Amino acid sequence: MNGVTMNSEQILARLIAFDTTSTTSNLQLIDFVRNLLDEHAIATQLVHSDDRSRANLYATIGPDNIGGVMLSGHTDVVPTSGQDWNSDPYQMLSGDQQLIGRGACDMKGFIACVLAALPQISAESLKTPIHLAFSYDEEIGCVGAKRLVETMAGFEVKPRIGLIGEPTEMAMVLGHKGKVSYRVTVTGLSCHSAYISNGVNAVEYAAELIAFIRAMNTRVQQQQLDQSYSVPYSTFHVGNINGGTALNIVPRQCQFEFEIRNLPQQDSATLVHDIKHYANDVLLPEMQTRYPEASIEFAELSYYPGLRTDLASTVIAYTRAINPIDRIGDNVSFGTEAGLFDEIGIACLVCGPGSIDQAHKPDEFVSRAQLANCDQMIENLVQRCREASEFA
Ligand SMILES: [Zn+2]
Repeated sequence: MNGVTMNSEQILARLIAFDTTSTTSNLQLIDFVRNLLDEHAIATQLVHSDDRSRANLYATIGPDNIGGVMLSGHTDVVPTSGQDWNSDPYQMLSGDQQLIGRGACDMKGFIACVLAALPQISAESLKTPIHLAFSYDEEIGCVGAKRLVETMAGFEVKPRIGLIGEPTEMAMVLGHKGKVSYRVTVTGLSCHSAYISNGVNAVEYAAELIAFIRAMNTRVQQQQLDQSYSVPYSTFHVGNINGGTALNIVPRQCQFEFEIRNLPQQDSATLVHDIKHYANDVLLPEMQTRYPEASIEFAELSYYPGLRTDLASTVIAYTRAINPIDRIGDNVSFGTEAGLFDEIGIACLVCGPGSIDQAHKPDEFVSRAQLANCDQMIENLVQRCREASEFA
């Protein structure tokens, strides 16, 4: 089928058919999008992952010398393994009210609506540019978006505002938590467990550090800093641990991973600093008195900041004017790339079709009504960008 004639539902079916599970290649999907853009003579820029198996896609439609509006979404989806689906997750099933398939709401639905508007966008000359930013590996910590933002930070002209199309049932969401995650490797000295004073027990020191992280969680939990979140404080969590080889050997190494999901008003760097301080200035000196080569290493696995958009900001007034659903949504606990874009001066909010309740689950769906609302919003956006030159 020729791309020019496809509506959002037909494009969604095509997007769902690409298995773009995080950490696997998204290049076939990116090629498909690129071809659609090519048909409308829209130039694209790809920003690849290190191994070049995945890519972010960036495109500007309209004048390239003023800011404009960015539409952003991730192309990856969460795995279907271990989930009990009633149909093939990669073959879109069209019901009366719902379109079912992996990524239907999170968040290929939004991308489909954007792409369905292309004929309209390219047929008209825009006075305000529209930028497309489609990223990879969002679901594992905004990995692709982070790289895209690094590239965009060098652009002479950047988008002024951005809509992130995560599923919010088209409500405008102004805040979400940030997240940072680390792998910690504690290295001590092994020996026969009958002579423990000759060794440095890595598992036990890791346990002390984990207890410290847990105590931080208890402390912030008591503060209940922000009641606009269903979990009204930053959270700390250790998700896995691995260490030791046998009970009669003092373990040399222990590895664990932790994450912090911070309220946007609480800087994750400060919280991480407290943990590192305890590791390096309290635990490590004690370990090194018995074994100078002992170490505690921190490797950052992922990072994105929280989002806290001011209700009075331009992006909200702008989105209200184009969105058929005029509703400000509650702050959400899931993360998006919005905070990353915000850091380079692109004011963002989160607004997209479908509900987070259906995301990541078997028989994920987006309702036709939601998709139609999103189509309408994009149509209104195009109309406005055609009529007025804004963000000069
Ligand atoms: Zn998502």
